[in-house]
Amino acid sequence: MLSAFGLLASDERKLSSLCPKIWIELKIRVMDTIISPEILTISELEKIPFLTHGFGNRYLKKEYLIKSRQWPAFQLVFLEQIHSNIAHSIREVPDHELRGDALITNQPLLLLVIQSADCLPILMVEEKKKVIAAIHCGWKGTQKCLVSAVIKLLKRDYGARPSSIKVALGPHIRGSCYEVGQDVRHKFLEAGFSPSFFEPLAGLDNKYLFDLAKVNSRQLIEAGVKSEHIFTVDICSHCHPLFPSYRRDKEKAGRMLSFIGLKF
Ligand SMILES: [Zn+2]
Repeated sequence: MLSAFGLLASDERKLSSLCPKIWIELKIRVMDTIISPEILTISELEKIPFLTHGFGNRYLKKEYLIKSRQWPAFQLVFLEQIHSNIAHSIREVPDHELRGDALITNQPLLLLVIQSADCLPILMVEEKKKVIAAIHCGWKGTQKCLVSAVIKLLKRDYGARPSSIKVALGPHIRGSCYEVGQDVRHKFLEAGFSPSFFEPLAGLDNKYLFDLAKVNSRQLIEAGVKSEHIFTVDICSHCHPLFPSYRRDKEKAGRMLSFIGLKF
C-alpha cells in the first residue's frame, strides 16, 4: 500500500530502522504531496504488537490524531503541562484536564499525548505488564527527577520491572544547542546533580551546554532501565525546521505531539 508520501509502507519501515534523520530527510523531499502529517516511530517499539506510538512534528495536528483511521477507537488524553514531577495514573479519560507532566495507564484505547517544543518527550512501555507512560520533560522536570518518579509508580502500582521497560526519547533541543545559565546549574547542584552535566561555553561567562537526553538517560539507568532499552531520536528540534522549537521561534513555535497507546 502506498503511503501519503508515495513510499511503500515496507520501505518506510526499512528506512525508519536506519538513521531516523535520514528517514525524515527522505520524506521531506516528497513533502509537496503531503496529505497527512509526518509521524516518526521507533522500530524497536513498532515490534510490540499491542502498542501504537509516535513522535509528530509541526505538521501533526490534534485533529489528525482524532480523525485518523489509524486510531479509530482511541480516546486522546492531554495534560495541562506545568514543568513538574507530577505523574497521573489513569484508567479512563479524566473529566477535566489533569495538571502534571506524565500520564500512565494499563488500559487499552487511551492515547496518551504530550506536547513539546524543545523539551524532551519520553514514551515508555513495560511489555509484560502492558503498561505505558508518556512524559514531558524540560530542565525543570529533569531537575525534579520526573522520570525516576514515573519508574517508581510503574513498579509500585503495576508491578513493572525496570529491566523490562523500553524507553523512547523523542526530538528535542540537543546538548550541543541547549544553553543554560548559572541559575539553572545552581538548581541542579543544589539537588545533588554532578557539575559534570554542565559543559562551560568557551568565551561566555556563566553559560553552559546541557544535555536533557543524557541526564534523563542517567536517571533511567539508575532506576534500573537497561541502557540498550533506551532509544534516542537523533534529531535536534532547534536545528531541524521540521520540528517546533521554542528557543528558535518563541511564541510562533507551536508544539509537536508525541503519543503512545495500547491497542488491546
Ligand atoms: Zn540543535
